[in-house]
Amino acid sequence: MSVLVYAESSEGKFKKIAFEAVSYGKKVAELLGTKLSVLTINAENASTFSDYGAEKIIKVNNEKLSNFNAKAYADVIKQGAEKESADVIIIDSSNDGIYLAPLLAVNLEAGYASNVVEAPSSISPFTVKRKAFSNKAFDNTEIKTARKLIGLAKNSFGLVENKTSATEEDFTPTLAEGDFNITSTSIDKAKGKVTIADADIVVSGGRGLKGPENWGMIEELADILGAATACSKPVSDLGWRPHSEHVGQTGKPVAANLYIAIGISGAIQHLAGINSSKVKVVINTDPEAPFFKAADYGIVGDAFEVVPKLIEKLKEF
Ligand code: FAD
Repeated sequence: MSVLVYAESSEGKFKKIAFEAVSYGKKVAELLGTKLSVLTINAENASTFSDYGAEKIIKVNNEKLSNFNAKAYADVIKQGAEKESADVIIIDSSNDGIYLAPLLAVNLEAGYASNVVEAPSSISPFTVKRKAFSNKAFDNTEIKTARKLIGLAKNSFGLVENKTSATEEDFTPTLAEGDFNITSTSIDKAKGKVTIADADIVVSGGRGLKGPENWGMIEELADILGAATACSKPVSDLGWRPHSEHVGQTGKPVAANLYIAIGISGAIQHLAGINSSKVKVVINTDPEAPFFKAADYGIVGDAFEVVPKLIEKLKEF
């Protein structure tokens, strides 16, 4: 019996949530009184997971897996789980994780809980707290199957240092030829730009910015903060920004540490997608804008005056 965490990476680098998932995995392994194994695919510096409680690191390196392919990755994780006799398998509730989870759950005959925010407090019942109804509520879900698959929500558990000495091994899973039918892949981001899913900080603009020509200040602010840029739905519908930046209930979910909303009213469908963010800052001319009710900090003011001043100030640091 063991706990296996799949540590998600992109272009060879581990995502922050991978460390959070390993911290979470350690807590579950302690509850079960078992060891924690971490599976990595085509990523470097896996040994750092021993700082977060990993006791065994299983490294898969295969160029056929260099692009994310849900079926192939699910096959690999299944083989890793079987090799480790893992009863609890932990992945991220990320964009990739959402594709991976149903395949993996079927492969492993495991009960699956997504968007999990807390470790269970007992083995039986094995109940996890998870976000529900577009992150507006929590529910407690008991996973009753022998094997359990958990999708961890970003920024829910945090990083917990727990130094161990981990063994490392290379693992060569069997890859089915039918797993690979990707003919080309384009990465939906400019070189060096932070993606919304990975960002700690997101700078988001709404219709209050009047037009695409005014996004220069949004990008400049994002660059200074090392942030991703995002937008409300009408902004992408109008073609001011690409659809990949649309956030909210029908767009991408955001669980950043800091979400800065500029010229966005705060409609319920927008808030549903961003309310997992820790700190929300709102800049809006209308003091009655609904976003101020959800904000941690608010500036009632014209974005065209406030944002340049903010940029000027941040440049001093
Ligand atoms: P507006 O509502 O037009 O608000 C603009 C804001 O900018 C106003 O509050 C105004 O006071 C402020 N402003 C104006 N000038 C300035 C200035 N100079 N400086 C600062 N502030 C200024 N929306 C999403 O965003 N994401 C979704 O996923 C989404 N899904 C939806 C799903 C459904 C089924 C439906 C029906 C709607 C959905 N919507 C979604 C749309 C949503 O209801 C709102 O219409 C939308 O979020 C409004 O976008 P906005 O705040 O940019 O624009």
